[in-house]
Amino acid sequence: MTIHAKTALLGSDWVSNLRVEIHGGRITALNPGSKPVPDDTCVDVLLPALANLHSHAFQRAMAGMTEIRAAGRESFWTWRTLMYRFLDRLTPDQIEAIAALVFMEMQEAGYASVGEFHYVHHQPGGAPYANLSELSQRIFAAASHSGIGLTHLPVLYTYGGVTQEPLAGGQLRFGNDVDRFLRLVEDCKSRLPHSDSNIGIAPHSLRATSPDDLRQVVDQVPEGPVHIHISEQVQEVTDVEAALGQRPVAWLLDNIKVDARWCLIHATHMTDDETRTLARSGAVAGLCPITEANLGDGIFNGAVYIEEGGAFGVGSDSNIRISLPEELRTLEYSQRLRDRARTVLVRGEGSVGQTLYSGAAQGGAQALGRGAGQIAIGQLADLVAIDRAHQTLCTLRDDQLLDGLCFAAPDGIVTDLWSAGRHQVQAGQHIARDAILTAYKSAMSDLLAGI
Ligand SMILES: [Zn+2]
Repeated sequence: MTIHAKTALLGSDWVSNLRVEIHGGRITALNPGSKPVPDDTCVDVLLPALANLHSHAFQRAMAGMTEIRAAGRESFWTWRTLMYRFLDRLTPDQIEAIAALVFMEMQEAGYASVGEFHYVHHQPGGAPYANLSELSQRIFAAASHSGIGLTHLPVLYTYGGVTQEPLAGGQLRFGNDVDRFLRLVEDCKSRLPHSDSNIGIAPHSLRATSPDDLRQVVDQVPEGPVHIHISEQVQEVTDVEAALGQRPVAWLLDNIKVDARWCLIHATHMTDDETRTLARSGAVAGLCPITEANLGDGIFNGAVYIEEGGAFGVGSDSNIRISLPEELRTLEYSQRLRDRARTVLVRGEGSVGQTLYSGAAQGGAQALGRGAGQIAIGQLADLVAIDRAHQTLCTLRDDQLLDGLCFAAPDGIVTDLWSAGRHQVQAGQHIARDAILTAYKSAMSDLLAGI
């Protein structure tokens, strides 16, 4: 398979007339200054496609249903209540159909891969399915339908709070002790959907695991990504500090060997010291700016983190809205609003759009353990093409394109997308859009009829 791009981002340089050869899902040759030949797929601007490093696919089904205020209730309540009502009913078929829609939307938005932080494992009430990995397999089926690159992250969720309260209600579907969790991970390994798929582990948070359990699973699974929710809300910081004697990020960095395998999801509330230590650890900060804004979590300590050279990537988390440019733009704009300044997330000088895009491409790939994140020989062909003829981009120089993409262009500017060489988005639409959308609508009408 070959692609010809009029303009492409190679490392941090823009090149013209690049011909890309792909075999077995990987880039095998790159020839700038080439003429297109008849079998080439011809595109305007070719970029490395991002990894969406954090998703709970099923939550997409709630988008737009929880933006109401209930008298006398704290603000998180409407969201959490509906999530638990969904959890009382969601069937394996519905989970598969919702995930396929989410993965398709991600690819149309420019994400070639996803880290699915998968925590619904069991039947309503908590009994395991006959097949322990039933719901993981439904995620695999959804990734097969959409062709997205998958890093599956089964979640260890054992307790209902930081002082090891038992699980209750909707949480019963999440629960595993360490032994059953390790069996689940092992069971998933042989069933992954594509040869470029990957598996990691996700101890849910310091609230839902104990220090001993956390150490045990990290020791027992010595390779692959490790993701954890950390320091998302102020209440969480207070609770962890009361139980463990330190703030969540400080406790994790002092007590567990956090390195380049790790991705700390949210890492929203950090002191400057925590921020610098995390940046130096080699781990990735997994930021979910749209969801963090939607849930009112707070603002990442981005200026200090970027100054220290910290790795980062982005994820769509609750999937309230799946828009790659908006994710990056919200990250930068939250910093500007807090600091009353412009162009915050750049180290030294340069383009904000290129810093955000290239940083998130490389950090996202690292977080998913995926050989991708730049257009280079030997990397997976996770590639995206955008429409330079659009009025928001047509007047820009090459070195302004990513600023245009992040700050000025509408969604829907993606023309083509490849996940490990699978050409899943063509002429702006996913090739399985009709079938995926039909299955989603049918699953949702069944689900909502019961609520
Ligand atoms: Zn999350």
